[in-house]
Amino acid sequence: MKALLLKEYRRFAVEDVAVPEPAAGEVLVRVRACGICGSDVHGMDGSSGRRIPPLIMGHEAAGEIARVGDDVTGWQPGDRVTFDSTVYCGDCWFCRRGRVNLCDHRRVLGVSCGEYRRHGAFAEFVAVPQRILYRLPDNLSFEQAAMVEAVSVAVHAVKRTPPVGDGTALVVGAGMIGLLVVQALRAAGCRQVIAMDLDEGRLSLAKKLGAVHTLKADDAAWPDFIRALTGGRGVDAAFEVVGLPQTVKTAIEAVRKGGSVTLIGNLKPQADLPLQAVVTRELTLIGTCASAGEYPECLDLIASGKINVTDFISATPPLEEGAQWFERLYAGEKGLMKVLLKP
Ligand SMILES: [Zn+2]
Ligand SMILES: [Zn+2]
Repeated sequence: MKALLLKEYRRFAVEDVAVPEPAAGEVLVRVRACGICGSDVHGMDGSSGRRIPPLIMGHEAAGEIARVGDDVTGWQPGDRVTFDSTVYCGDCWFCRRGRVNLCDHRRVLGVSCGEYRRHGAFAEFVAVPQRILYRLPDNLSFEQAAMVEAVSVAVHAVKRTPPVGDGTALVVGAGMIGLLVVQALRAAGCRQVIAMDLDEGRLSLAKKLGAVHTLKADDAAWPDFIRALTGGRGVDAAFEVVGLPQTVKTAIEAVRKGGSVTLIGNLKPQADLPLQAVVTRELTLIGTCASAGEYPECLDLIASGKINVTDFISATPPLEEGAQWFERLYAGEKGLMKVLLKP
């Protein structure tokens, strides 16, 4: 089969490699679309230590089952599926409590980090265990389905947060995940969602996707705006979707006493904490990572149109063009959001 192989850092080749053999309990999936994730783009230069070559990356995929291994039940060749980006063990302390994203033995598809190497879905076929499979609603395209991982990150973050109800939520950072958080909040019934970013284009997309107000992050008057909107209190919940010291500070400053700050972004590994404000204002800080079983709900949200993913799909080139699209994403080309490779 053809696969996009990371041969060495920042060097790809499309090569013929052996089709993976599905083990017992696994299925072989014919990949129809696979998204290039930010973690792949950052990882391809070696800086994250999690894409050690040689490696077939890719963990945001959808396709159809080509073959089932031994002991697979309930799945047939031809079934249209997507799968969790993380292969969890299903048996550790965390998995038994449903917190599969915290699995002690989690292995992300398309990652090699020294501890393990698990080839991913930038290839014609990938073998995955049946326990991470999800069936696609009939009206969902493979391209839409390949966006489900990103949607699940947003939906999981909203679920981890105390319900906002008819209150006000602020989303700091209107990149793709931030814009999905805006939509997940709206889908959860929060009417008053504010989006904040530096980029006007992203803010206008935020408006289109359900933000009632938008704020420029460099507008010094934003705290006044939020106070005026919330009876002087501050927002009930803030979502930090950037991961820089300044944006963490902004999220903490924007919430009311007793409010919550949900931390999703982690561009930087460290950020100062305004400790006294968090303690004396009784804020709840919530870390959130990946998702834990939200895929079926997310597939329904996409299929019903409650969450729009098509606005984020910038291009759907063939696998052979993978290397050049990786370079364009690596260069930070403006306006590029999700690129889906089609093997
Ligand atoms: Zn990803
Ligand atoms: Zn586990």
